[in-house]
Amino acid sequence: MVTPTALFAIDTLLTDEEREIRNTVRRVCDREIRPHVAAWFEAGELPARELARTLGSVGVLGMHLEGYGCAGMGAVSYGLACLELEAADSGLRSLVSVQGSLAMYAIWKYGSEEQKQEWLPAMAAGERIGCFGLTEPDFGSDPAGMRTTAKREGGDWVLNGTKMWITNGSVSDVAVVWARTDEGVRGFLVPAGTPGFTVNDVKHKISLRASVTSELVLEGVRLPDEAMLPGARGLSGPLGCLNEARFGIVFGAMGAALDCLETTIAYAGDREVFARPLASFQLTQEKLADMALELGKGLLLAVHLGRLKEAGTITPEQVSAGKLNNVREALEIARKCRTLLGASGITLEYPVIRHAVNLESVLTYEGTSEIHSLVLGKALTGIGAFH
Ligand SMILES: Cc1cc2nc3c(=O)[nH]c(=O)nc-3n(C[C@H](O)[C@H](O)[C@H](O)COP(=O)(O)OP(=O)(O)OC[C@H]3O[C@@H](n4cnc5c(N)ncnc54)[C@H](O)[C@@H]3O)c2cc1C
Repeated sequence: MVTPTALFAIDTLLTDEEREIRNTVRRVCDREIRPHVAAWFEAGELPARELARTLGSVGVLGMHLEGYGCAGMGAVSYGLACLELEAADSGLRSLVSVQGSLAMYAIWKYGSEEQKQEWLPAMAAGERIGCFGLTEPDFGSDPAGMRTTAKREGGDWVLNGTKMWITNGSVSDVAVVWARTDEGVRGFLVPAGTPGFTVNDVKHKISLRASVTSELVLEGVRLPDEAMLPGARGLSGPLGCLNEARFGIVFGAMGAALDCLETTIAYAGDREVFARPLASFQLTQEKLADMALELGKGLLLAVHLGRLKEAGTITPEQVSAGKLNNVREALEIARKCRTLLGASGITLEYPVIRHAVNLESVLTYEGTSEIHSLVLGKALTGIGAFH
């Protein structure tokens, strides 16, 4: 027997250091996350603070950034960490993506030296958590329509508006909030507890239950000028951050798919139907072969995009292609695995249905599959079809 990743000799594409990083994150997930994650999911709770410290202690938070306590790892290493985290649960990978690729990256890329010194080392260590507020109740795919405003009053800024579906919202020490100003869209660092800033958790989620999702309400939030990110002006600021996080999803989604497929191969070997192992039926083997093919292709694409990112040549369209393909195929794999588990496939005893419902969120956030199709359509035809 050969594992799905060995079938494609994926390890031969990785350096010793990359394999070591992957193994370290896998060990942390096996020890700290996998034994508990189904219960967190069922309860709709996540011990985010403890987990952030644990993940910070192994250098995963902002690991692809240089300096300020960050590990400065390559894109493939970061991707492999996302893969291992998402093999445990997409909610865990979301915590890490938002912390490292959205909140920390925004500060690292666009922040002042003082902002970097104040927030990045503590965020890398997991002592402080960040969130990223771009989406609004009425503007998700079209953030250009945002209604949140920041107006100058004397030397201060005053923010008003509502952000919705914000990962890590209520457990964050700082929110990166994007708002409309007279100078275009700008980013602001809003510390938790600032007067006028309230956070309400989204309840009754069926997907990403082991993840905190919140609404951020800003009512006359007064901030000093130093709270603005000086290096970001216009929507290219937040979109640059989203591109970073999407890259992690290209690998992460394959982690969820791999966990589903490995679980299902083991199940099909044990489960007897019509007095034979489920794995011995041709229909089963065709399903397993098809899933292994999509998984292998997705992993190869992820590593290829990682190498392009390390070379500094990756384009946003290539990241869109990776996100669109790998999340779509991961969801298909999760659904197909679910069928092979039969009724057992609908319980939390196995991770498959949890991955399947989580991937529904992953399909929607960081750009929906439709939006990524439109990005590729525009790249191929030269015609934008968004409006
Ligand atoms: C669990 C979770 C966590 C999230 N975390 C964050 C976060 O941390 N920070 C943050 O800012 N946001 C976050 N989001 C928000 C997420 O990015 C948005 O939900 C996403 O961008 C889609 O926006 P929407 O939900 O408003 O859907 P809409 O934009 O209303 O889209 C509805 C449907 O219309 C389609 N559509 C939209 N425009 C077009 C078009 N031009 N052509 C064809 N079809 C179109 C979409 O693809 C979709 O199918 C999160 C979402 C979820 C579910």
